[in-house]
Amino acid sequence: MIDFTSLPVTENPNSGLGTVDFDHIVFGQNPTDHMLQAIYSNSEWTDAEIVPFSTISLSPLALCLHYGQTVFEGFKAYRQPDGGISVFRMDKHYQRINRSLSRMGMPELPEPLFMQGIRQLVDLEKDWIPSGNDTSLYIRPFVFASEPRLGVKGAKEYRFMVVCMPMGKYYEGNVSVKVETGFVRAVEGGTGDAKCGGNYAAAILPTQLANQQGYDQLIWTDGIHHEYMEESGTMNLMFVIDERLVTPPLSGSILEGITRDSILTIARDLGIPVEERKISYRELVAAFEEGKKIEAFGVGTAAVISPIERIGINGRDYFPSVQDNSLFITLKKQLQDIRTGLAPDRYGWNEII
Ligand code: PMP
Repeated sequence: MIDFTSLPVTENPNSGLGTVDFDHIVFGQNPTDHMLQAIYSNSEWTDAEIVPFSTISLSPLALCLHYGQTVFEGFKAYRQPDGGISVFRMDKHYQRINRSLSRMGMPELPEPLFMQGIRQLVDLEKDWIPSGNDTSLYIRPFVFASEPRLGVKGAKEYRFMVVCMPMGKYYEGNVSVKVETGFVRAVEGGTGDAKCGGNYAAAILPTQLANQQGYDQLIWTDGIHHEYMEESGTMNLMFVIDERLVTPPLSGSILEGITRDSILTIARDLGIPVEERKISYRELVAAFEEGKKIEAFGVGTAAVISPIERIGINGRDYFPSVQDNSLFITLKKQLQDIRTGLAPDRYGWNEII
């Protein structure tokens, strides 16, 4: 077994740190100075190192470009009040990337390569972690098939890489969503619970069509009845109905979100009744028509919680409640306070670097 406890580092002589305007960070465009990379060949992960961020070269025959063996993760490091750094629930993301890899017939990552490697990278990039309210360092690990050989088969060569980028205050406001009953994101037995590139590619056209109709995002429904709501964009879905927090179950066709798990844990500890069960859009329409007060929101790493202010169902719009005393506001604050060290980390979620 290769020792990944301390990876060789080639320092970047041209730091880009001075060129970033931390008050106006546009997400996704400002990689930090270094990246982690490793190669899988001859049935083992080798050549792990941290190098200056740069473009990579790949054969046009690389299998990922043709048959889509790609998976990724996304999570964040936060600056703590004492100036230290904490990565949120990295172990859960490690477990999830291995589940995604396994589903796509790709080799799993050794724990030290992922955990120690990312700790080392984040420590090296610590000056890139903003300290303002709601800011963080986004960490994007990914694996793809690099073997240069056409033919639909599991590849024998892969690359693992990790890049990071600072994130400013992420505020997209309240969102409007359309319940999609034609296009399908995933079916049970498919790849909906894997974080693989193809899931996201298949969502682009239906989302663009919803955008043209004036909605920001879709709520996907199940692939059989086209009725049970699944998730929305890159977020899991939650509702508050009759003062109960209701969320679709982990059926195999939705991603097992780590924010979802964190919010459910916090809600249960606050004594809020939680139901993980199928929710049909018909149930939602009936509840709106009865005049019930309903909260609806998406939960995910990017925005933590995005309140939904308008839901389009079969050509009619319904309006969930978004108020200063909404339950989602309490849940969001509690989770943010734990991540940023303002509330005690009772669950051991913060991985201090
Ligand atoms: N569903 C999908 C499809 C996603 O891409 C994400 C973002 N990873 C989520 C849900 C939320 O997951 P998490 O809370 O782990 O970010």
